[in-house]
Amino acid sequence: AATDMDKLVSLCKRRGFIFQSSEIYGGINGFWDYGPLGVELKKNIKEAWWTDMVRNPPIGPKGEEITMVGLDCSIIMNPRVWEASGHVSGFSDPMVDCKTEGCKSRFRADQIPGMACPLKPSKAPGQYEKCSLTEPRTFNLMFQTYVGALQDASSVAYLRPETAQGIFANFKNVVDSSRVKVPFGIAQIGKAFRNEINPRNYTFRSREFEQMEIEFFCHPDESRMWYEWWRDLRKSWYARMGISSDKLRPREQDEKELAFYSCGTTDIEYLFPFSDEPAELEGVAHRGAYDLGQHTKFSGQDLTYFDETAWERDKASHGTNSFKEFAKKPENAELLGKYQYLPHVIEPSAGADRFTLAVLCEAYTEDKVPNDKGGEEERLVLKIHPRLAPIKAAILPLMNKDGLPEKAMALYRELKAEFNVFYDDKGAIGRRYRRQDEAGTPFCITIDPESMTNDSVTIRDRDSLKQRRIPIREVANEIRAALRP
Ligand code: ATP
Repeated sequence: AATDMDKLVSLCKRRGFIFQSSEIYGGINGFWDYGPLGVELKKNIKEAWWTDMVRNPPIGPKGEEITMVGLDCSIIMNPRVWEASGHVSGFSDPMVDCKTEGCKSRFRADQIPGMACPLKPSKAPGQYEKCSLTEPRTFNLMFQTYVGALQDASSVAYLRPETAQGIFANFKNVVDSSRVKVPFGIAQIGKAFRNEINPRNYTFRSREFEQMEIEFFCHPDESRMWYEWWRDLRKSWYARMGISSDKLRPREQDEKELAFYSCGTTDIEYLFPFSDEPAELEGVAHRGAYDLGQHTKFSGQDLTYFDETAWERDKASHGTNSFKEFAKKPENAELLGKYQYLPHVIEPSAGADRFTLAVLCEAYTEDKVPNDKGGEEERLVLKIHPRLAPIKAAILPLMNKDGLPEKAMALYRELKAEFNVFYDDKGAIGRRYRRQDEAGTPFCITIDPESMTNDSVTIRDRDSLKQRRIPIREVANEIRAALRP
């Protein structure tokens, strides 16, 4: 499995999916850059998520429309946010250091129990003895910085370690400004930062990464239903994005693992080639009223939700028009929660980089294809779902003469207004196909001499290798059909 990962990493670098950050300076541990193909892939992933979850979410569990809105919050927030959320006091990992003099190795105590100490060679050549480790200490994972010119305790701020808190902090703003009614969700895509002790496994555990998070607010009585609905929806979304193999493994946390405020969390895990254990792509968590409760306490603001529709419907039966009056009467205490309450929260929280890596791992395929000489040759192909593929189609004139390039260029110009397409007229056609296979391009459109007489092209399918001849005016439709959610 280790070699599989090496091959993928080398393909990603060679073809411009992922580079080490600041590579010309030797890189920086835990930071990555996306190259020309990688940025398109990751953008498509974020766009597919936004389209399917925010703009056009599926119909709800009772056949109802689901209300979803978006947010884009600042990365640096008032530090009180992170006190309220528990991150200042509790967002830490246990860290151990090597006790060998001069050895700077430092590990997450729960993840890497015994590592070779580079300063302690053993008798066997090329082997090292294990680090002897200190007792674990807690290490807060939040990156700190200062805001403004004064650098003291009063100006300390943090780079957000998750996007979720920006959503909770804006809960009231969104309710007051956009007429949303519970149940509804707020979604955000954005960078998050964690000073991970051991960044590793390529982009899987980085120090700067992007999250795609939803906080779905609902009535406490319905929260179990919504938790199950989101859990199943998020599972099936990954399958729809092409992660259909048995490598996708949702795992419901058992009671010991659950946060104290949670009555259910499912980790959607993927079996990456770097490990025998599946690893988390997304956590779908039932967070109860914990977050809004904490922010109520720390901000002093009233973050309860008033269900006006329910009150308007029932007020006549309560014999008053004024909710305030109704609320004052002790005998109504038990009924108040029906109209005014702190919503419960279901949080599907996904990592854009982890999913990008899973798409690449899942897509990476070595197979054999017929070559021009009647034999077979090895091919490396990324079988990425067309919706996510960086390039949707390559436009290839078979030869560089007889008007073929001009006709191909005209088609390219027409298509690029709508899709990310690629024009390539260099080299043997077989080699051009191979290059597109490695980039994960689902279609190769070839303009050949016949195209000049009857306005037709061949369209080659990346996975089946089948070629069909279709009218040139149908090309855009073919691509569009493959990209439909
Ligand atoms: P892990 O246990 O792997 O550290 P976590 O449980 O701390 O992850 P969450 O706090 O639930 O992660 O964050 C939600 C999502 O954000 C994760 O499912 C993952 O996709 C992504 N994520 C978290 N930490 C990182 C990281 N260091 N690098 C890349 N993505 C990350």
